[in-house]
Formats: sequence, C-alpha cells, structure tokens
Amino acid sequence: MNTPAIFTTQALLVILFAELCAGIVHWFEDAYIREDTPLLGKYVGRPNVIHHHLPRYMTRNNWLQSSWDLLLISVVIVLVAGALGCLTWHVWLFAAISANANEFHKWTHRTRKENGRIITFLQHIRLLQTPQHHAMHHTNPKNVRYCVVTNFLNPVLDRAHFWAALEWLLARTVGLRRRPDTSVPEHGPAPAWLNELRHPVPAGPVATSSHTGDQELLGMHY
Ligand SMILES: [Zn+2]
Ligand SMILES: [Zn+2]
Repeated sequence: MNTPAIFTTQALLVILFAELCAGIVHWFEDAYIREDTPLLGKYVGRPNVIHHHLPRYMTRNNWLQSSWDLLLISVVIVLVAGALGCLTWHVWLFAAISANANEFHKWTHRTRKENGRIITFLQHIRLLQTPQHHAMHHTNPKNVRYCVVTNFLNPVLDRAHFWAALEWLLARTVGLRRRPDTSVPEHGPAPAWLNELRHPVPAGPVATSSHTGDQELLGMHY
C-alpha cells in the first residue's frame, strides 16, 4: 500500500475506534447509571435520563455542556500519551473524535435548519451519523445503536449482540445488572423531577401519559 492509502486506512480505523469507545461510555451510562448513582448520578446519570425522556432537550446545550465529560477523558488520554512519549497524530485524532462524540449525537437531534448546510451535507453523505439512523436508539426498548458518530459501526455491533454480551458478562462476573429505563413504557413511570423540565403545556387537552407527553411536548425531529 502507498503512503496516502496507509494514512487513510489508519485514520478510518482510529475514527471507528474512537466511536466504539464513546459508544461503550454511552452504553454503560444507559445501562447502569441513573440520577441516584453515587458520584456520577448528578452529572452523568441525570442528563442521560433526561435525554431518553426528552430527546430534544440536549439541543439547548452548548458545546461545553454537551462535551465536558468526554473532553475530560480525552485530555487525560492526551496527557498520559504525552508522558509516555507516544503522542502521535493517531492519539490526537482519537481524542478529537471522542471529545466531540456527544456533539455529533446532538446534531442527530437537531433539525436541518438548526444544523445548517455543512452538517446536513456531512450527514447526507453519511460521513456523520444521520438522524434516521440514531432514531432507532430512541425506539423501545432503547438498547441498540449506542454509537453516535457514523452509521457504520452500529449494524455490526447490534448484529453481533455486542452490548447484550457485555451485559451478560458483567452480570456473570461482578453481578452488575442493567437498571430499568423509565422512558420505556414497561419500565416507567418517569421520575417526578422530570416534570419541571417539560415545556409548559399549552391550553387545551393535556396529555396524561408521561410517555405520550414526552413525544408530544418535545417532538423528535428525525
Ligand atoms: Zn442512550
Ligand atoms: Zn439521542
């Protein structure tokens, strides 16, 4: 292989690896962390619970609000690689993709108008994950398509039952069990504190079911 081909292959593999790692973080949060989890509950569990109930809520976050946790992990990775003397362009690319994974995720929840022409084009040519692809993650029982950067990895991982296998392994080895997702009808009801985040209900018929309410009040712009 010539040099550009090697470079392109390596770059693609690094991007997919970063997407996989961010997907693992997303899966772990969805499966095991809730608002009452010690230490991580307030800053990681709560936004995650909000996102599954009110998917469009994240679109009001700025870049830092969406990315601070993955940014923190990426900075640590760059610092460690620097200290070990192996801070190559691969590490920088890995850190850049990882730190922005939730920003790419947010773009799948925004309208075309909100995303603007460039992001919409990148989604259209499948360089970035499309809203249609991510919509499956928000379809009950919400346990597939945890990767949020491209459309490439999820079909492979889901077909291989990768996430179910990880959950089985954690249950068998350390007794960690997946926690109920209250945004899935069988696992509800929604926590009461979510009510303060919902938009004011317009005059007229009021949705009584919290699940109906989530969809009606926030709308998922796929
Ligand atoms: Zn999720
Ligand atoms: Zn989402």
